[in-house]
Amino acid sequence: MSFTKPDIRSVCVYCGSAFGKDAAYRQAARDLGQILAGAGLRLVYGGGGVGLMGETARAVHEASGQVLGIMPKFLQNREIVLDDIDTRIVDNMHERKMMMFEEADAFVVAPGGIGTLEEAIELMSWRRLDLHKKPVIFLNINNYWQPFFRLIAHTLTEQFTPEAFLDTFTSVDSVEDILPAIARISAQDMDIDTRKVI
Ligand code: AMP
Repeated sequence: MSFTKPDIRSVCVYCGSAFGKDAAYRQAARDLGQILAGAGLRLVYGGGGVGLMGETARAVHEASGQVLGIMPKFLQNREIVLDDIDTRIVDNMHERKMMMFEEADAFVVAPGGIGTLEEAIELMSWRRLDLHKKPVIFLNINNYWQPFFRLIAHTLTEQFTPEAFLDTFTSVDSVEDILPAIARISAQDMDIDTRKVI
């Protein structure tokens, strides 16, 4: 079965290199992989075999889906590149993030730590600068992202971020809601003037 939006072919998942405390995170990572594979969407990810990132990649691969991993040289051993998965080795973190961005048509931010946050924030700041209009969906399992959303709301309250910024990303509570959210957002974006978008 293929995804209903032909302009969405690859989905980048940012998520933890650990499993997290609650088994629900790991289950969600696995379910997400199966859903992507089932929809014929390629997973783009950081290329590691550890934690939630490895779980999602293995789930896509085991369901005969397509995966592209992007791994900086110096992390190859620490984050354990998976056998049988198409992996590009790059020189550094910046190249990794740029390639992940360029190879993906939409982004899912699943629970993760400081690395996941950094990747998500960069993506959001690029959106704030109108450098892209690709859908960004937070997977808010167990309300994991609530403190982060509160911080963003604080930047609005204190008038460092415009109200309209809230329209540039969305959050879903369950894995099943991710693809419908991507489809909805990419449909909206077709109505937007894309001349400035790279
Ligand atoms: P974490 O959420 O901290 O477990 O990290 C998740 C993933 O983000 C791991 O694969 C890290 O290698 C990656 N990561 C951490 N910091 C950065 C960074 N500055 N640029 C790109 N990837 C990063």
